[in-house]
Amino acid sequence: MYHADDGERFERACGHIFVDIYDYFAQKGSLIRDQDDTVYVLGIADQLLSLLEAIREGHKQEWIQEQLDKYISPNVALNSLFRSIVEKHKLKYELRVFECPNCTRLFIESNPGSSDFCCYRSEDKDSFPILRSNRLS
Ligand SMILES: [Zn+2]
Repeated sequence: MYHADDGERFERACGHIFVDIYDYFAQKGSLIRDQDDTVYVLGIADQLLSLLEAIREGHKQEWIQEQLDKYISPNVALNSLFRSIVEKHKLKYELRVFECPNCTRLFIESNPGSSDFCCYRSEDKDSFPILRSNRLS
């Protein structure tokens, strides 16, 4: 088990030191347990519908304060609110996954937000950067 410190920094089994400071990082991904997937997706959908209903009824700001963050402006764009809803659910259900660029070991968070990681190594001799997006290749 590996634990990341406050800077999301930890040394991997091969000695590579990883620091999580980037978005769109090619060696980072996420995983949702199949048993949580439906709750995760439906939770997002339900909250989006709830937001749309609050907007229709003229209670947008109250809804934002109760459901998201009291410091979010009532004038924030709708797509930013949608993203905030998704991020809220990601924090609750997603396990972060990091891949070592040196040895391709995967480090999977043991529970959402725990910063404790279990290490897994491929048996495939032709392993490749599995977390790199095909969209950006
Ligand atoms: Zn490594």
